[in-house]
Amino acid sequence: MNLYDICIVGAGVVGCAIARELGRRRWDRPLRIIVLERNQAAGLETSGRNSGVLHSGIHENPHSLKARLAHEGSALAVSYATERGIPLLNTGMIIAVAWEDIRRGLWKEASSLRRLWFNAWKTGTRVTFVTASRLRTWEPNLHACCGIVIPSVSVIDPQAFVQSLKADAEETGSVFAFNHPVTGIQDDGRAYTLTTDRQTIHATCLINAAGLHSDHIANLALHSENYTIRPLRGEYYEVVPPEKRALVRRLIYPALPPLATGKGIHFSPRPDGRLFIGPNAVPVTDKLDYTSNKTPPGLFIEAARKFLPVLEEQDLRWAYAGIRPCVVAGDGDKHDFIVSTDRAEPPLVNLVGIESPGLSASLALARHVVDLPCIQQRFRL
Ligand SMILES: Cc1cc2nc3c(=O)[nH]c(=O)nc-3n(C[C@H](O)[C@H](O)[C@H](O)COP(=O)(O)OP(=O)(O)OC[C@H]3O[C@@H](n4cnc5c(N)ncnc54)[C@H](O)[C@@H]3O)c2cc1C
Repeated sequence: MNLYDICIVGAGVVGCAIARELGRRRWDRPLRIIVLERNQAAGLETSGRNSGVLHSGIHENPHSLKARLAHEGSALAVSYATERGIPLLNTGMIIAVAWEDIRRGLWKEASSLRRLWFNAWKTGTRVTFVTASRLRTWEPNLHACCGIVIPSVSVIDPQAFVQSLKADAEETGSVFAFNHPVTGIQDDGRAYTLTTDRQTIHATCLINAAGLHSDHIANLALHSENYTIRPLRGEYYEVVPPEKRALVRRLIYPALPPLATGKGIHFSPRPDGRLFIGPNAVPVTDKLDYTSNKTPPGLFIEAARKFLPVLEEQDLRWAYAGIRPCVVAGDGDKHDFIVSTDRAEPPLVNLVGIESPGLSASLALARHVVDLPCIQQRFRL
Protein backbone atom coordinates (compact mmCIF):
# COMPACT_ATOMS: atom_id res chain seq x y z
CA MET A 1 0.00 0.00 0.00
CA ASN A 2 1.33 3.46 -0.93
CA LEU A 3 1.06 5.02 2.51
CA TYR A 4 2.96 8.24 3.30
CA ASP A 5 3.04 10.69 6.19
CA ILE A 6 3.14 13.73 3.94
CA CYS A 7 2.22 14.20 0.29
CA ILE A 8 3.30 17.40 -1.45
CA VAL A 9 1.61 18.18 -4.76
CA GLY A 10 3.97 20.05 -7.11
CA ALA A 11 7.74 19.86 -7.66
CA GLY A 12 8.33 23.53 -8.33
CA VAL A 13 10.78 25.49 -6.20
CA VAL A 14 8.25 25.66 -3.35
CA GLY A 15 7.37 21.94 -3.27
CA CYS A 16 11.06 20.99 -3.48
CA ALA A 17 12.04 23.49 -0.76
CA ILE A 18 9.32 22.14 1.55
CA ALA A 19 10.40 18.51 0.96
CA ARG A 20 14.00 19.54 1.70
CA GLU A 21 13.04 21.42 4.88
CA LEU A 22 10.96 18.48 6.14
CA GLY A 23 13.96 16.21 5.57
CA ARG A 24 16.28 18.50 7.57
CA ARG A 25 14.18 18.55 10.74
CA ARG A 26 13.99 15.96 13.54
CA TRP A 27 10.62 14.26 13.94
CA ASP A 28 9.08 11.61 16.16
CA ARG A 29 9.98 9.06 13.46
CA PRO A 30 11.55 9.13 9.97
CA LEU A 31 8.81 10.71 7.85
CA ARG A 32 7.69 9.09 4.62
CA ILE A 33 7.35 11.97 2.15
CA ILE A 34 6.22 11.87 -1.46
CA VAL A 35 6.15 14.69 -4.00
CA LEU A 36 3.67 14.17 -6.85
CA GLU A 37 4.48 16.08 -10.03
CA ARG A 38 2.59 15.90 -13.27
CA ASN A 39 5.56 16.87 -15.48
CA GLN A 40 8.54 14.65 -16.22
CA ALA A 41 10.94 16.73 -14.12
CA ALA A 42 11.02 19.38 -11.39
CA GLY A 43 10.74 23.10 -12.08
CA LEU A 44 9.31 22.96 -15.59
CA GLU A 45 6.52 25.48 -14.93
CA THR A 46 6.75 28.93 -13.27
CA SER A 47 9.85 28.03 -11.25
CA GLY A 48 11.87 27.65 -14.44
CA ARG A 49 10.31 30.62 -16.27
CA ASN A 50 11.15 33.76 -14.32
CA SER A 51 13.87 36.41 -13.93
CA GLY A 52 15.77 34.54 -11.23
CA VAL A 53 15.99 37.69 -9.10
CA LEU A 54 16.46 37.19 -5.35
CA HIS A 55 14.34 40.15 -4.33
CA SER A 56 14.87 42.19 -1.18
CA GLY A 57 11.09 42.49 -0.64
CA ILE A 58 11.01 46.30 -0.79
CA HIS A 59 8.54 46.30 -3.68
CA GLU A 60 5.99 44.70 -1.34
CA ASN A 61 3.85 45.99 1.50
CA PRO A 62 6.25 45.78 4.48
CA HIS A 63 3.58 44.02 6.58
CA SER A 64 2.99 41.27 4.02
CA LEU A 65 4.20 37.67 4.01
CA LYS A 66 5.74 38.44 0.61
CA ALA A 67 8.00 41.15 2.06
CA ARG A 68 9.08 39.17 5.12
CA LEU A 69 9.66 35.85 3.34
CA ALA A 70 11.42 37.40 0.32
CA HIS A 71 13.78 39.28 2.63
CA GLU A 72 14.59 36.18 4.70
CA GLY A 73 14.44 33.74 1.80
CA SER A 74 16.81 35.70 -0.45
CA ALA A 75 19.49 35.79 2.25
CA LEU A 76 19.07 32.03 2.75
CA ALA A 77 19.18 31.39 -1.02
CA VAL A 78 22.40 33.40 -1.46
CA SER A 79 24.14 31.39 1.28
CA TYR A 80 22.74 28.15 -0.11
CA ALA A 81 23.84 28.94 -3.69
CA THR A 82 27.31 29.97 -2.54
CA GLU A 83 27.69 26.77 -0.54
CA ARG A 84 26.45 24.54 -3.38
CA GLY A 85 28.12 26.31 -6.30
CA ILE A 86 24.78 27.26 -7.89
CA PRO A 87 25.34 30.01 -10.51
CA LEU A 88 24.72 33.38 -8.86
CA LEU A 89 25.28 36.90 -10.16
CA ASN A 90 25.64 39.58 -7.52
CA THR A 91 24.63 42.57 -9.61
CA GLY A 92 22.68 44.65 -7.13
CA MET A 93 19.45 46.26 -8.31
CA ILE A 94 18.94 49.80 -9.56
CA ILE A 95 15.40 51.19 -9.53
CA ALA A 96 15.63 54.25 -11.72
CA VAL A 97 13.60 57.20 -12.99
CA ALA A 98 14.28 57.92 -16.67
CA TRP A 99 14.93 61.53 -17.80
CA GLU A 100 12.10 61.06 -20.25
CA ASP A 101 9.59 60.47 -17.44
CA ILE A 102 10.66 63.59 -15.58
CA ARG A 103 10.44 65.68 -18.77
CA ARG A 104 6.89 64.44 -19.24
CA GLY A 105 6.16 65.60 -15.70
CA LEU A 106 5.65 62.11 -14.30
CA TRP A 107 6.64 62.94 -10.76
CA LYS A 108 4.67 59.93 -9.55
CA GLU A 109 7.64 57.76 -10.58
CA ALA A 110 9.93 59.82 -8.39
CA SER A 111 7.51 59.62 -5.50
CA SER A 112 7.45 55.84 -5.86
CA LEU A 113 11.16 55.88 -5.00
CA ARG A 114 10.18 57.49 -1.70
CA ARG A 115 7.75 54.64 -1.02
CA LEU A 116 10.42 52.02 -1.82
CA TRP A 117 12.88 53.87 0.39
CA PHE A 118 10.35 53.79 3.24
CA ASN A 119 9.72 50.04 2.69
CA ALA A 120 13.48 49.41 2.78
CA TRP A 121 13.78 51.33 6.05
CA LYS A 122 10.88 49.33 7.53
CA THR A 123 12.39 45.96 6.56
CA GLY A 124 16.01 46.85 7.39
CA THR A 125 17.24 46.62 3.79
CA ARG A 126 20.26 48.74 2.91
CA VAL A 127 19.54 51.05 -0.03
CA THR A 128 21.33 54.13 -1.37
CA PHE A 129 19.67 57.05 -3.13
CA VAL A 130 21.70 58.13 -6.15
CA THR A 131 21.59 61.06 -8.56
CA ALA A 132 22.40 60.92 -12.29
CA SER A 133 26.14 61.45 -11.92
CA ARG A 134 26.48 58.74 -9.25
CA LEU A 135 24.33 56.38 -11.33
CA ARG A 136 26.74 56.82 -14.23
CA THR A 137 29.57 55.44 -12.08
CA TRP A 138 27.53 52.25 -11.67
CA GLU A 139 26.07 52.03 -15.15
CA PRO A 140 27.79 54.49 -17.53
CA ASN A 141 25.30 53.95 -20.40
CA LEU A 142 22.13 54.41 -18.38
CA HIS A 143 19.94 57.44 -19.13
CA ALA A 144 18.35 58.13 -15.77
CA CYS A 145 18.04 61.18 -13.56
CA CYS A 146 18.02 59.38 -10.21
CA GLY A 147 17.36 56.07 -8.57
CA ILE A 148 17.92 53.84 -5.62
CA VAL A 149 20.51 51.08 -5.50
CA ILE A 150 20.00 47.90 -3.48
CA PRO A 151 23.47 46.34 -3.42
CA SER A 152 22.41 43.04 -1.83
CA VAL A 153 20.25 41.80 -4.74
CA SER A 154 21.52 38.80 -6.73
CA VAL A 155 20.30 36.72 -9.65
CA ILE A 156 20.25 32.94 -9.34
CA ASP A 157 19.97 30.21 -11.96
CA PRO A 158 16.44 29.05 -11.04
CA GLN A 159 16.68 25.62 -12.70
CA ALA A 160 19.94 24.76 -10.93
CA PHE A 161 18.38 25.97 -7.66
CA VAL A 162 15.32 23.72 -8.02
CA GLN A 163 17.41 20.68 -9.02
CA SER A 164 19.67 21.14 -6.01
CA LEU A 165 16.70 21.41 -3.60
CA LYS A 166 15.20 18.27 -5.12
CA ALA A 167 18.50 16.38 -4.75
CA ASP A 168 18.72 17.43 -1.07
CA ALA A 169 15.18 16.22 -0.44
CA GLU A 170 15.91 12.89 -2.12
CA GLU A 171 19.02 12.49 -0.02
CA THR A 172 16.91 12.61 3.16
CA GLY A 173 14.46 10.05 1.79
CA SER A 174 11.73 12.01 -0.05
CA VAL A 175 10.31 10.20 -3.05
CA PHE A 176 9.56 12.16 -6.24
CA ALA A 177 6.90 10.67 -8.53
CA PHE A 178 7.04 12.38 -11.93
CA ASN A 179 4.39 12.06 -14.64
CA HIS A 180 1.86 11.78 -11.80
CA PRO A 181 -0.90 14.37 -12.32
CA VAL A 182 -3.26 14.40 -9.35
CA THR A 183 -6.78 14.00 -10.65
CA GLY A 184 -8.82 13.22 -7.53
CA ILE A 185 -8.59 13.71 -3.76
CA GLN A 186 -10.76 12.06 -1.11
CA ASP A 187 -10.42 11.97 2.67
CA ASP A 188 -11.90 9.65 5.28
CA GLY A 189 -11.28 11.93 8.26
CA ARG A 190 -7.88 10.32 8.99
CA ALA A 191 -5.96 10.38 5.68
CA TYR A 192 -6.12 11.60 2.09
CA THR A 193 -6.38 9.34 -0.91
CA LEU A 194 -4.88 10.94 -4.02
CA THR A 195 -5.61 9.52 -7.43
CA THR A 196 -3.16 9.87 -10.31
CA ASP A 197 -3.10 8.21 -13.76
CA ARG A 198 -0.59 5.66 -12.45
CA GLN A 199 -1.24 4.91 -8.80
CA THR A 200 -3.26 5.75 -5.72
CA ILE A 201 -1.44 7.38 -2.80
CA HIS A 202 -2.55 7.59 0.82
CA ALA A 203 -1.13 10.34 3.03
CA THR A 204 -1.97 11.59 6.50
CA CYS A 205 -1.04 15.17 5.60
CA LEU A 206 -1.41 17.04 2.31
CA ILE A 207 0.57 20.10 1.20
CA ASN A 208 -0.62 21.76 -1.97
CA ALA A 209 2.24 23.53 -3.79
CA ALA A 210 0.76 23.15 -7.28
CA GLY A 211 1.47 26.71 -8.47
CA LEU A 212 -0.87 27.75 -11.27
CA HIS A 213 -3.07 24.75 -10.48
CA SER A 214 -3.13 25.15 -6.70
CA ASP A 215 -6.72 26.44 -6.96
CA HIS A 216 -7.73 23.19 -8.66
CA ILE A 217 -5.93 20.99 -6.10
CA ALA A 218 -7.39 22.99 -3.16
CA ASN A 219 -10.87 22.77 -4.64
CA LEU A 220 -10.49 18.98 -5.19
CA ALA A 221 -9.42 18.54 -1.55
CA LEU A 222 -12.08 20.83 -0.10
CA HIS A 223 -14.88 19.78 -2.49
CA SER A 224 -15.74 23.43 -3.03
CA GLU A 225 -14.60 26.37 -5.14
CA ASN A 226 -12.52 28.20 -2.53
CA TYR A 227 -9.79 29.66 -4.76
CA THR A 228 -9.52 30.95 -8.31
CA ILE A 229 -6.25 31.70 -10.07
CA ARG A 230 -6.08 34.23 -12.88
CA PRO A 231 -3.10 33.44 -15.16
CA LEU A 232 -1.08 36.50 -16.16
CA ARG A 233 1.65 35.89 -18.70
CA GLY A 234 5.02 37.65 -18.55
CA GLU A 235 7.11 37.58 -21.75
CA TYR A 236 10.82 38.16 -22.29
CA TYR A 237 13.01 39.20 -25.21
CA GLU A 238 16.76 38.61 -25.32
CA VAL A 239 19.29 41.28 -26.30
CA VAL A 240 21.33 39.45 -28.93
CA PRO A 241 24.34 41.54 -30.14
CA PRO A 242 27.22 41.02 -27.66
CA GLU A 243 28.26 44.71 -27.86
CA LYS A 244 24.74 45.85 -26.85
CA ARG A 245 24.46 43.18 -24.16
CA ALA A 246 27.66 44.54 -22.63
CA LEU A 247 26.08 48.00 -22.16
CA VAL A 248 24.13 46.96 -19.06
CA ARG A 249 25.56 44.84 -16.26
CA ARG A 250 23.04 45.23 -13.46
CA LEU A 251 19.36 44.68 -12.85
CA ILE A 252 17.66 47.92 -13.90
CA TYR A 253 14.02 48.30 -12.91
CA PRO A 254 11.82 51.31 -13.63
CA ALA A 255 10.32 53.26 -10.74
CA LEU A 256 6.63 52.76 -11.35
CA PRO A 257 3.59 54.79 -10.33
CA PRO A 258 2.00 53.40 -7.10
CA LEU A 259 -0.86 51.41 -8.67
CA ALA A 260 1.11 49.84 -11.54
CA THR A 261 0.90 46.02 -12.01
CA GLY A 262 4.06 44.08 -11.13
CA LYS A 263 7.55 45.52 -10.92
CA GLY A 264 7.78 46.64 -14.53
CA ILE A 265 9.75 45.63 -17.62
CA HIS A 266 13.38 45.54 -16.57
CA PHE A 267 16.88 44.75 -17.80
CA SER A 268 17.47 41.23 -16.56
CA PRO A 269 21.09 39.99 -16.70
CA ARG A 270 21.70 36.31 -15.93
CA PRO A 271 24.59 34.36 -14.40
CA ASP A 272 25.40 32.86 -17.83
CA GLY A 273 26.09 36.33 -19.29
CA ARG A 274 22.85 36.71 -21.25
CA LEU A 275 20.66 39.81 -21.00
CA PHE A 276 16.86 39.76 -21.22
CA ILE A 277 14.18 42.44 -21.23
CA GLY A 278 10.82 41.75 -19.63
CA PRO A 279 8.40 40.71 -18.32
CA ASN A 280 5.20 42.42 -19.42
CA ALA A 281 1.76 41.39 -18.12
CA VAL A 282 -0.75 39.77 -20.50
CA PRO A 283 -3.93 38.07 -19.23
CA VAL A 284 -4.34 34.60 -20.77
CA THR A 285 -7.13 32.06 -20.46
CA ASP A 286 -5.03 28.89 -20.69
CA LYS A 287 -2.66 28.49 -17.72
CA LEU A 288 -0.04 26.85 -19.92
CA ASP A 289 -0.28 29.13 -22.94
CA TYR A 290 3.27 30.43 -23.20
CA THR A 291 3.38 31.27 -26.89
CA SER A 292 0.11 32.18 -28.64
CA ASN A 293 -0.29 35.85 -29.69
CA LYS A 294 3.22 36.79 -28.64
CA THR A 295 3.56 40.50 -27.87
CA PRO A 296 5.69 42.13 -30.60
CA PRO A 297 9.00 43.68 -29.49
CA GLY A 298 7.76 47.30 -29.80
CA LEU A 299 6.49 47.52 -26.21
CA PHE A 300 9.76 46.09 -24.86
CA ILE A 301 11.94 48.37 -26.93
CA GLU A 302 9.92 51.39 -25.78
CA ALA A 303 10.40 50.43 -22.11
CA ALA A 304 14.11 49.70 -22.61
CA ARG A 305 15.03 52.71 -24.77
CA LYS A 306 14.00 55.12 -22.04
CA PHE A 307 17.13 53.92 -20.25
CA LEU A 308 19.26 52.78 -23.18
CA PRO A 309 18.43 54.80 -26.32
CA VAL A 310 20.95 52.95 -28.56
CA LEU A 311 18.88 49.78 -28.42
CA GLU A 312 17.05 48.93 -31.68
CA GLU A 313 14.15 46.59 -32.32
CA GLN A 314 16.36 44.28 -34.40
CA ASP A 315 18.60 43.77 -31.36
CA LEU A 316 15.84 41.80 -29.64
CA ARG A 317 14.84 38.16 -30.13
CA TRP A 318 11.80 36.46 -28.58
CA ALA A 319 13.01 34.39 -25.61
CA TYR A 320 10.35 32.80 -23.39
CA ALA A 321 7.37 33.47 -21.14
CA GLY A 322 6.25 32.53 -17.63
CA ILE A 323 2.77 32.70 -16.15
CA ARG A 324 1.94 34.36 -12.82
CA PRO A 325 -0.59 32.55 -10.59
CA CYS A 326 -2.59 35.63 -9.48
CA VAL A 327 -5.42 34.93 -7.04
CA VAL A 328 -8.87 36.36 -7.65
CA ALA A 329 -11.13 36.85 -4.64
CA GLY A 330 -14.63 38.32 -4.34
CA ASP A 331 -13.14 41.74 -3.57
CA GLY A 332 -10.63 41.66 -6.46
CA ASP A 333 -7.05 40.39 -6.77
CA LYS A 334 -5.19 39.40 -3.60
CA HIS A 335 -1.70 40.72 -3.38
CA ASP A 336 -0.13 38.49 -0.75
CA PHE A 337 0.87 34.82 -0.67
CA ILE A 338 -1.86 32.59 0.75
CA VAL A 339 -0.53 29.90 3.11
CA SER A 340 -3.61 28.46 4.71
CA THR A 341 -4.30 25.44 6.91
CA ASP A 342 -7.71 24.79 5.40
CA ARG A 343 -8.28 21.58 7.32
CA ALA A 344 -6.69 20.67 10.65
CA GLU A 345 -7.55 16.95 10.60
CA PRO A 346 -6.19 15.41 8.45
CA PRO A 347 -3.94 18.43 7.85
CA LEU A 348 -4.34 20.25 4.55
CA VAL A 349 -2.07 23.21 3.80
CA ASN A 350 -2.82 25.20 0.66
CA LEU A 351 -0.18 27.51 -0.86
CA VAL A 352 -2.02 29.66 -3.37
CA GLY A 353 -0.99 32.76 -5.31
CA ILE A 354 2.75 32.15 -4.92
CA GLU A 355 3.67 34.67 -7.57
CA SER A 356 6.76 36.91 -7.49
CA PRO A 357 8.78 36.99 -5.25
CA GLY A 358 8.05 33.29 -4.66
CA LEU A 359 11.43 32.10 -5.95
CA SER A 360 13.21 34.46 -3.55
CA ALA A 361 10.93 33.48 -0.68
CA SER A 362 11.03 29.70 -1.26
CA LEU A 363 13.49 28.68 1.48
CA ALA A 364 11.78 30.91 4.09
CA LEU A 365 8.35 29.84 2.86
CA ALA A 366 9.38 26.21 3.41
CA ARG A 367 10.39 27.01 7.02
CA HIS A 368 7.09 28.87 7.51
CA VAL A 369 5.08 25.84 6.30
CA VAL A 370 7.05 23.29 8.31
CA ASP A 371 6.62 25.45 11.45
CA LEU A 372 2.81 25.49 11.08
CA PRO A 373 1.07 24.05 14.17
CA CYS A 374 -0.73 21.39 12.11
CA ILE A 375 2.64 19.90 11.04
CA GLN A 376 4.48 20.45 14.31
CA GLN A 377 1.74 19.01 16.51
CA ARG A 378 1.41 15.90 14.40
CA PHE A 379 5.05 14.95 13.82
CA ARG A 380 7.39 16.79 16.21
CA LEU A 381 9.52 14.89 18.70
C1 LIG B 1 7.35 36.12 -15.55
C2 LIG B 1 7.68 35.79 -14.13
C3 LIG B 1 8.83 36.33 -13.53
C4 LIG B 1 9.12 36.04 -12.21
N1 LIG B 1 10.28 36.54 -11.68
C5 LIG B 1 10.60 36.24 -10.40
C6 LIG B 1 11.81 36.70 -9.85
O1 LIG B 1 12.63 37.32 -10.51
N2 LIG B 1 12.05 36.44 -8.54
C7 LIG B 1 11.16 35.75 -7.75
O2 LIG B 1 11.41 35.60 -6.57
N3 LIG B 1 10.03 35.25 -8.29
C8 LIG B 1 9.74 35.46 -9.59
N4 LIG B 1 8.61 34.94 -10.13
C9 LIG B 1 7.74 34.11 -9.30
C10 LIG B 1 8.28 32.70 -9.12
O3 LIG B 1 8.71 32.16 -10.34
C11 LIG B 1 7.17 31.84 -8.50
O4 LIG B 1 6.69 32.48 -7.34
C12 LIG B 1 7.65 30.46 -8.12
O5 LIG B 1 8.33 29.85 -9.18
C13 LIG B 1 6.46 29.61 -7.71
O6 LIG B 1 6.91 28.31 -7.47
P1 LIG B 1 5.88 27.15 -7.19
O7 LIG B 1 6.69 25.97 -6.80
O8 LIG B 1 4.85 27.64 -6.23
O9 LIG B 1 5.09 26.93 -8.55
P2 LIG B 1 5.49 26.12 -9.87
O10 LIG B 1 6.86 26.35 -10.29
O11 LIG B 1 4.40 26.45 -10.85
O12 LIG B 1 5.35 24.61 -9.43
C14 LIG B 1 4.12 23.99 -9.24
C15 LIG B 1 4.25 22.57 -9.74
O13 LIG B 1 3.03 21.89 -9.49
C16 LIG B 1 2.81 20.98 -10.55
N5 LIG B 1 1.40 20.62 -10.63
C17 LIG B 1 0.36 21.44 -10.95
N6 LIG B 1 -0.79 20.74 -10.95
C18 LIG B 1 -0.49 19.46 -10.62
C19 LIG B 1 -1.25 18.28 -10.46
N7 LIG B 1 -2.57 18.25 -10.66
N8 LIG B 1 -0.61 17.14 -10.13
C20 LIG B 1 0.74 17.12 -9.92
N9 LIG B 1 1.51 18.24 -10.07
C21 LIG B 1 0.91 19.38 -10.40
C22 LIG B 1 3.27 21.75 -11.77
O14 LIG B 1 3.56 20.90 -12.85
C23 LIG B 1 4.49 22.50 -11.24
O15 LIG B 1 5.69 21.80 -11.49
C24 LIG B 1 8.28 35.20 -11.46
C25 LIG B 1 7.16 34.64 -12.06
C26 LIG B 1 6.87 34.92 -13.39
C27 LIG B 1 5.67 34.29 -14.03
